Amino acid sequence: ILMFKMQGLGDKGKVYDSETTKSKITFDDVAGLDEEKYEMMEIVDFLKNPKRFYEMGARIPRGVLLCGQPGTGKTLIAKAIAGQAKVPFISMSGSEFIEMFAGLGASRVRKLFEKAKKISPCIIFIDEIDAIGARRSSGSGAETENNQTLNQLLVEMDGFDTEETIIVLAATNRPEMLDKALLRPGRFDRRINIAIPDLRGREAILKIHAKEKKFAEDVNLKSIAEDTAGFTGADLANILNEHKAITNKDIEDAVKKVTVGLEKQSRVVPEKDKRLTAFHEAGHAIVSSMLETQKEIKEVSIIPRGVAGGYTMYKTNEDKYYISKTEMEEKLVALLGGRAAEKIALNDISTGASNDIEVATEIAKNMIVKYGMSENLGPISINTERDPYELQMLGERFGDAIGAEVKVLLDTAYTRAQSLIINNMDKLNKVAEALLEKEVISAEEFQELIK
Ligand code: ADP
Ligand code: ZN
Repeated sequence: ILMFKMQGLGDKGKVYDSETTKSKITFDDVAGLDEEKYEMMEIVDFLKNPKRFYEMGARIPRGVLLCGQPGTGKTLIAKAIAGQAKVPFISMSGSEFIEMFAGLGASRVRKLFEKAKKISPCIIFIDEIDAIGARRSSGSGAETENNQTLNQLLVEMDGFDTEETIIVLAATNRPEMLDKALLRPGRFDRRINIAIPDLRGREAILKIHAKEKKFAEDVNLKSIAEDTAGFTGADLANILNEHKAITNKDIEDAVKKVTVGLEKQSRVVPEKDKRLTAFHEAGHAIVSSMLETQKEIKEVSIIPRGVAGGYTMYKTNEDKYYISKTEMEEKLVALLGGRAAEKIALNDISTGASNDIEVATEIAKNMIVKYGMSENLGPISINTERDPYELQMLGERFGDAIGAEVKVLLDTAYTRAQSLIINNMDKLNKVAEALLEKEVISAEEFQELIK
């Protein structure tokens, strides 16, 4: 409810036209999101000094997709990039292209880019890109209109020449809906996920918005942050912006109001689900920490991200070129660690592991039919996309053998994951409890817990 009010008041611009602004917002106005800001620095550098990029022959960034729920600060960060680079910011919303201008979407897109080329270097920000960029399918009416608008956008993105220093940022909450053509190299080939803030992020956001406000003495931002799990940056900003002088009572009321709204949208995670996610992620983390090739954990979290209830993040080693069989086997164990923990700690299993299982199955299959890692079948590569009849040619028994090998890999991995959990129940409990308390734990905190 609150969010609606916000957007009405927001500076999204004169309704029917794209809006150009000089953004005064910089990265200092964006709380938390340190990694995201870091990633965006390259774009700021490019806008400030494109020549250097061209001279070095560096890859020129073009389109960046910002994915995240409404109110998580996608617009804010786009404006901050413009402000930081001191370039103009042109914005338009995808739904405006479609709804307001039946039949005119494509020409609006063309005009938008024309305008941008005139004032380049600049940023184009397209909010709600899914309104134009939804997957194409043959249809009539609104869909055809969509196609023309989308096609025009693709044409524009491909048509940049080297003189133009324009970065197109687009925001969406539903990246999976987007037409794949939009995500090809040279278009929106970079994606930055903007998650709902964790405890530390919430406190930082509150701090930024608390500047220049009068507070009653007993107001404590830290404790507000603790009570607002699930709130976006916009929700938090609203709590503080509703009043001139702020008392604890104001805050309690505002928090309650937002919470009720969130519960309706089921964005507040019920305690039971939180517990399940905590054990699931703790399971991945504990099992991984026992495996030589999987133990470089960066962060464990039970803050929802996209469709996932939580995540376990690993440090990446970019110098690496090959993946060994041992590493793949251990990856399977780590992936199945979530399900194993649910089963053993809570004596129940959930759909939360479905993506893990999908990924594990894919890896196991590739080990057999792509990388030739099966003792039994030997070094063979089967690719039915290359040749749909390949399996038929090899014979039915061969197909059965593949299935059996994949099953052995997965069963072995699951058994290993289960015994690692059983042998480390105390650590599992510790990590799960810490997750329930803090929502996110860093690599250092994790190491401390399992010492
Ligand atoms: P989105 O584009 O993702 O819907 P917005 O960027 O419009 O979200 O965010 C709305 C408002 O919420 C911002 O203008 C700002 O006041 C506040 N906000 C959101 N995220 C942050 C953040 N990380 N730091 C500071 N303020 C934030
Ligand atoms: Zn998982």
